[in-house]
Order: sequence, then C-alpha cells, then structure tokens
Amino acid sequence: MYTKKFTVSVMALTALLMGSIAQVQASTDDTVTVYSSRKEHLIQPLFEQFTKDTGIEVNYLTGKGGDLIERLKLEGENTPADIFMTVDAGDLWYAGTQDIFQAVMTDTIASNIPSYLRDPKGLWTGLSVRARTIVYSTERVNPTELSTYADLANSQWKGKLCLRTSKKIYTKSLVASIIHNEGEEGAKAIVSGWVNNLAATPNAKDSHVMNAILAGQCDVGLVNTYYFGRLIEETPGVPLSLFWANQETTGVHVNVSGAGVTKHASNAEGAVQLLEWLSSPKAQTIYGSLNKEYPANQSVASDDIVSAWGAFKQDDMNLAIAGILQADAVALMQRIGYK
Ligand code: FE
Repeated sequence: MYTKKFTVSVMALTALLMGSIAQVQASTDDTVTVYSSRKEHLIQPLFEQFTKDTGIEVNYLTGKGGDLIERLKLEGENTPADIFMTVDAGDLWYAGTQDIFQAVMTDTIASNIPSYLRDPKGLWTGLSVRARTIVYSTERVNPTELSTYADLANSQWKGKLCLRTSKKIYTKSLVASIIHNEGEEGAKAIVSGWVNNLAATPNAKDSHVMNAILAGQCDVGLVNTYYFGRLIEETPGVPLSLFWANQETTGVHVNVSGAGVTKHASNAEGAVQLLEWLSSPKAQTIYGSLNKEYPANQSVASDDIVSAWGAFKQDDMNLAIAGILQADAVALMQRIGYK
C-alpha cells in the first residue's frame, strides 16, 4: 500500500489526535506525512506516483484548512506532519503567520515555479494555478462588451451581475489584488460598483453563480475556471463562456493551491523531496489536470479541456500580497456592504 489515509471531521479533531499520532509513529522513518485541505481524490494519485518513483511512502490526513492549522499548532513539536497543503494564497499566507512552516529555498523549486507563485520567504510554494475571471451568458452577452474587472462596476451591468460572497477567501484574494493594482480608492470604486450592479444576494458558491446566469437571473459573474470546467464536463453545450479579464492591463487574477514544509517536520528532507517532485513536469501534468487547473510550472502544458479555453496573460502580483492585503480587503468589503 502506498498511502495511509486519515480523515478528520471538525468535531472529531481532538479525539483523533492521539490515535493518528500513534499510527503515524508506527510508520517508517522515511515516510512523509501530509496534512491537506485539498481533497483526497486530488492528492492521492500524486502521492501514489511519488511512491512509485522514489520508494518513499506518503501518509496523509485531509480536513478543513483552518482546523489543520489549529491542529498543527496544538501538536507543536510532536506533530507527525511534514507538509501542510491547502488552497488559496490567502490561506497559505495565514498559515505562514501562524508559525507552522519552515523556510525552504531550493534551486529545483525556484526553477520550476515562478517567484510570484511562491512566498518570498520560502514558507510555501504554489503547485497549481487557478484563474478567477469573467463568466458570461453566450445568449445575452456579446464578449466585445467585456473587458476588465473594473468594467463590471459600470452601470451597463446594473442588475446583471452575480458574485460569490465576500466571506469566501477567493473573493478576499481577488479584492486584495485589486487594492494592490488600483489603490484603495480605486478598489473601493470598483467593488462598490459591483455591489450596485448585483442582480441578487451574493452566492455561496461559484457553481451557484453559473447556475444563476443559466437561470436568467444575471448575465455575468466571476468564477474560478475549474468550476466552469466541471460544469461543461457534466453538461456539454451550456450557453456560458469564459472571458479573460484585464488582458490589456494587469492580467487575470490567479491564485494557487500550494504547500510548505512544517516547522517541526521530522522528515524535512523527505518533505522537500516531495515538494520538489510535485513541482516537476511529470507531477505538474497530473496535478493540473486532476482539478482542471493550470500547472504552476509554466513549462508544462494544461490538459486538453483547459487548453481549449485559450491562452491568457496572468497577473504576476506576488501572491503573498493577497495575504498581506487580506484584512484591508475584508474591511473595504464591509464598509461597502458587500455581503
Ligand atoms: Fe474551489
């Protein structure tokens, strides 16, 4: 068996703590243990391939990112975890502020993953790229009408815009990037324009944004492209399309799923080996395609479905800024009344 898996629920967190430490201690010294908020079906095939390639086994435990960070803090030096893996730079950055990572700088990671997708201090690295861009009804919108995130604040879109809730980290990171690119006042004007244009209360999920457009409630929205990928796989021919925002200016807001080596890793060497392997072209091909994301290693092609959406310019803001400006983004959205 290549992997051992532990599943943790919020309620069972403390109860499971002692049990899984005991199990992990029973594994061999060169096993790498991963705590992941990324779901099992998206990581297990990668770990299996890593074990085939290197002979190093991977244990993993999946749960909610915030719970796993708390668990790492609680376990301290006794943690069995060598790697913490999660989604969104905002959450990776938060994990960095909680002192659960150690800095890792290797030539392999530096040459495989562009610096804007990595923490400047080396606490974490992006491993897949998700693009958050405009989705629109092909029945009611001509793509020549679309251009930028800022344009969605114009009165032309009054009552035609659907957005995900401001509570979601994806929204916080996007707004942080707009503060970075447009300044506080510019961002305030854009986000309040969005709120004025909303057709309905913000949606709980990206998939709900697309369903609302399909139901005729609104015409345009913002989504991570892999949700669009899942939808068109389930329902080919839906009258929706993606539009790459800000191509003449800053580029599409991108974010990452990523990972870092834990501060108290007992197998830091194996953990670095796994991180380097995950950044390699072979792993990146698998990693991106499992969730219809883009490889973080830019020498690797996206899978066929994703490639069909066309090439686009990415915003190359360093993603640590999504974390650094997160509190400002939250305050701005609260002031404006973005729910
Ligand atoms: Fe997601």
